Formats: sequence, structure tokens, C-alpha cells
Amino acid sequence: MIKERENEGRTIVRRQKENPECLTRGCLEELQLKGLKKVSERVYHKVLFYKEAFRANGVKPEDIKNLPDLKRIPFTTREDLRARYPYGFLASPLSSLVRLHTSTGTTGKPKAVLFTQKDIDQAAQLITRSIKMTGAGPEDVFQNMMSYGLFTGGLIFHYGAERAGLLVIPGGAGNTERQIGLMRDFSTTILHLTPSYALYLAEVMERLGLNPRDDFDLRIFYLGAEPYSEATNRKIEEIFSVDAYDSYGLSEMNGPGVAFQCKQKEGMHLWEDNFIMEIIDPETLEVLREGEEGELVLSAINREAMPLLRYRTGDLTSIYPEPCRCGRIHRRISRIKGRVDDMFVLRGVNIFPSGVERVLMGLPEVGRNYQIILERKGGLDEMRVKVEVEKRFFRGSFQDLEKLQSDIKAKLKRELLVTPQVELVEPTTLPRTTGKAKRFIDNREI
Ligand code: ADP
Ligand code: ZN
Repeated sequence: MIKERENEGRTIVRRQKENPECLTRGCLEELQLKGLKKVSERVYHKVLFYKEAFRANGVKPEDIKNLPDLKRIPFTTREDLRARYPYGFLASPLSSLVRLHTSTGTTGKPKAVLFTQKDIDQAAQLITRSIKMTGAGPEDVFQNMMSYGLFTGGLIFHYGAERAGLLVIPGGAGNTERQIGLMRDFSTTILHLTPSYALYLAEVMERLGLNPRDDFDLRIFYLGAEPYSEATNRKIEEIFSVDAYDSYGLSEMNGPGVAFQCKQKEGMHLWEDNFIMEIIDPETLEVLREGEEGELVLSAINREAMPLLRYRTGDLTSIYPEPCRCGRIHRRISRIKGRVDDMFVLRGVNIFPSGVERVLMGLPEVGRNYQIILERKGGLDEMRVKVEVEKRFFRGSFQDLEKLQSDIKAKLKRELLVTPQVELVEPTTLPRTTGKAKRFIDNREI
């Protein structure tokens, strides 16, 4: 009993450190409202786009009196950012800027994101909080295998990990064999990388005659920057014998550290003292209820250089209606299903690549990579799925492989409602990546 109380006390102290301002939902919402009012005032006077947008909606910053008033502010889209590239969204003077990052450019021309020193510090602080939430600390050796440079996943995460007191190895993406050497020499315990790179890393380790489970001290992975399924997460945890945590962010909101999984690993806590979240129907733009799936919209209430309001992230998720068992007040979002524009239409059926991945990675016979190819044959659209087979199954009999092929076909048909062509290929034959994977190829126009 005493022990329990002690634990409870310790938990509260820890929470207070993580989130010094608030321990209750009411307090958090007060903080959000204060931030929203302040940021509305600032962008209205400093950013022409927002002055015009507020005016077009007949709203003034002083009309924002409660959190639901947020709905009166118009959305900001990626196209708005691109149209006002490079400095159009600046709310701080040029002389106060210390850093430029850009998005990767997965969905078109990259977007520029500018930072003041305070923005950098705040972004790093959220990473520190996220890292501590997963039980990592100064005794850990952290190898950051995300690309350094313009991409936020490198530098921003790096700063946060240093603040958490971890020993940081700025490995960057690529140079995999050298990085494996560093992992062995310095007993790396934590990696930050894309899920696709994690699967590729395992192959390189195996090629070098090393066992990813036993020949390393790895215990935690932070996975992010691209959509991946629960099944892929499990696969990576098993291959390396680690705890893998989902990490969500986007350049426009400081990069990584927007939402992060806690030890319960059910959804990701979105750091609501920095961001106000909404979920909208991407077609009707109507705000949806907790639990309903739609596009995530974020308002950054603490950013200095480029505070974006009601920014349409393009990412599909939903808000968990129930509080997390860990007790944190920040609400959770579910694993990102993909981007609104990832969806493709095949013979009138809407399909998300994440649906294909969920089926494939749930099968033990399936290896570590796949590719979805759309083609037009004789006026008809067809989907071909190339699937790498797990090494030990690939050596099996022809009949076994034939059975696997028809199994995959049937399972995909059940999930997607269209019948794809399934092509089994040898392990490690499809293109590998050290960053965000590109597994979807649309050849229909060729
Ligand atoms: P982009 O890829 O849009 O050019 P970024 O490099 O800023 O720009 O990447 C941010 C995007 O990456 C997010 O909007 C989201 O689509 C994707 N992403 C980031 N983290 C995750 C995650 N944990 N799960 C799924 N998707 C993610
Ligand atoms: Zn939690």
C-alpha cells in the first residue's frame, strides 16, 4: 500500500515535470484559449494572408472568445503555403529567424518552414518530453538515423534527445554498414528511423552475418515520417526484439514531436498545450466528432515565426474518445492511415495503400517489402501487387508458393473489394530506401 502511494506520488511529480502548466483538462483548455487569442491577434496584424482570411469570414481576433470560436477562422492549406513561398507566412521579423527547414516534398514542391530560437527550443522540448515518456534517459545511447539537413527529423529530434540527456550519435540516413559498426562499438540502445529503413537495416545486418536480436543492445525504436501498419510495427519489434514507438510530426508544425506513443501504445498523445486539433471531413470540411475518422487539422498556438491556424495536414486519423490509461490529459490520435491524397480509385473502389500493407505484413510468409503497381490493360485498370516472400518460405515447394499466392489474393480481395494480380518475388529484390518509401506506382497514364 505504501509502495503504491509512493509510486503514485512519483507519477504525479513526473507528470508535473513533463507538463508543468496543467494537470487537468480544464486547465489545458484555458491554456489553449489563451494561446489561441494571442496567436490570432498576432497573425491578423502580421500576416497578410490571415488578415484577408479573417476579413473574408467577417471575423476579428477579438471575436475569438471561446475555443469553439476557432471554427470561425478559415483553413490554411498546403497550396496556400506554396503560393506564398518563401516568406509569405512570416509573423516575426527576418532578423529574428535562426533556421530554415523544408518538408520532404512527398506531395509536390517542398514547403519552407522558418524558426526563431524559441521555435527551435519549443520543438526540442516536445521531443524531450516524448523521449522521456517512453522511459528513455541519460543512460541511453541514441542513434538518429533520419536524414540530417533540410528535413526536420534529423536536427529537431537531435536537439530534443540531447536535452533529454541521451548520448546522441548523429548517424543520418544511409551509410548503413558504418552505422551498424557504430551501434556495435558504442552499444546503441535507441534508434530513430523510418519503418522502411528499419526493415532494410535488418537485411544489411543479416548480410553481415549479424543477428539483429542478439548481436546488439537495441531496446527502443522511434518510428515515423511515413504511414505504416500495426503489423509492420509488430514485425519490426520482433526482428530486433525492441519496443517500437510511433512518432508523428510534420515540418509545418515544427517537425517530429507533434504526437507520440506512450507506453500503453494505443494511439499517440498529441501535445495539446502546443497544438489545437480538429478532425474534419476532407470533402465537406465539416468538423467531426471524437472517434470519427477524417483529416487532421492543427493550429499551432506557440509558434513564433510561422504560426499556422487550422492547417489541413492531409493526414487521416481519428481522436480517441477515452482517456489513456497512462493518465495523461493530452488526447490521443490513432495510427495515421495515410494521406487523403494517397487514396486511389480502382474500378470505382476507393483504396488506401495502408489497407494493402495491413494484409501483407500480417502474414508470416510475407517478407519485408512490397510494391503496388496500377496499370491500364485493354481499357481496364488493374492492380498488381509485387510481394517479397520471407526467405525460409521462398525455399519451399512450388505448390506452397502457389497456395500463398492465392491466399494473398483472396485476403486482399476481402479487404479491398477488388481482385489484384499477385506476383511473388525473391527476398530483397524490390527497391530499398533509407528514408520515406515509395511503394506505389501509377502507370495508368503511360
Ligand atoms: P512531406 O512528406 O509532406 O513532404 P514532411 O517531411 O514534413 O513532409 O513529412 C510529414 C508527413 O509525414 C506527415 O504529414 C505524414 O503524412 C507523414 N508522417 C509523419 N509521421 C508519421 C507517422 N508516425 N505515421 C504516418 N505518417 C507520418
Ligand atoms: Zn498514454
